[in-house]
Amino acid sequence: MGEGGLVTGRVALVTGAGQGIGLAIARLLREHGARVVVSDRDPALAEAAAREAGQGAGPEVVPLACDVTDEAAVEGAVAHAVERFGGLDVMVNNAGITRDATMGKMTVDDFEAVVDVHLKGTWLGVRAAAKVMREARSGSIINISSLSGKSGNFGQTNYSAAKAGIIGLTKAAAKELGPRGVRVNAVQPGLIRTAMTAAMPPDVFAAREADIPMRRAGEPHEVAGAVLFLASDLAGYMTGAVLEVGGGRLM
Ligand code: NAP
Repeated sequence: MGEGGLVTGRVALVTGAGQGIGLAIARLLREHGARVVVSDRDPALAEAAAREAGQGAGPEVVPLACDVTDEAAVEGAVAHAVERFGGLDVMVNNAGITRDATMGKMTVDDFEAVVDVHLKGTWLGVRAAAKVMREARSGSIINISSLSGKSGNFGQTNYSAAKAGIIGLTKAAAKELGPRGVRVNAVQPGLIRTAMTAAMPPDVFAAREADIPMRRAGEPHEVAGAVLFLASDLAGYMTGAVLEVGGGRLM
């Protein structure tokens, strides 16, 4: 789709893009003409994902190992995009983990690990991208939250807190960066079919699906569509917004 793409020639960095939603985002941005840095904490996964997202695009899609909880690694990933492609137009903070347990069983380590990846990781990504984008006086940052952060999910006090925190972070950053021409938005996916939800017991997954007005889980590419829209000029007057991609779940 290069020529007629929605983000042709733009430079994008996607975290946690080794699989699932992040990989689908990298692939769709590429299909719409972006040059993409595909990053994940596992270098082998990033490598394989870049090959898959690139589908022969070669130098337009590059893999990078980046643990989003590591300040230097996140700064380095942004610097890599700038060195490799000459700038950074789109930053997608997508990396995520779950460590579900009810509070009686959840350890402080479970809490800190989840808050670290989602909240600190997203904050580091927003901050690093903003440094480059505010100089360029343009850019689009998209943070992946979750409907769990809107409504709270049983067994996810850590994850729901972190995902709700991402909304506050998104809105605060949108206020700081709006005058600099940089937009910051969030996407709240519902139940999406990835490795993360494959870990759910099948009966719990089925019960969740039955509760969704559209009566099915979403696919990663359906979240990627909302991200592409926010990355593109179609969303040129949107900042601080939260797009729900949940088939009508938890409206
Ligand atoms: P996924 O398939 O597990 O992919 C997430 C990727 O992020 C994995 O490759 C993971 O690596 C990587 N990652 C984890 N910690 C990282 C770190 N510190 N630095 C860099 N990469 C890291 O999950 P997904 O379902 O695609 O989720 C993507 C995002 O969507 C997450 O933020 C998630 O919370 C959000 N989300 C998902 C759903 C859903 O239903 N699937 C719903 C709402 C929101 P490892 O495999 O090594 O951990």
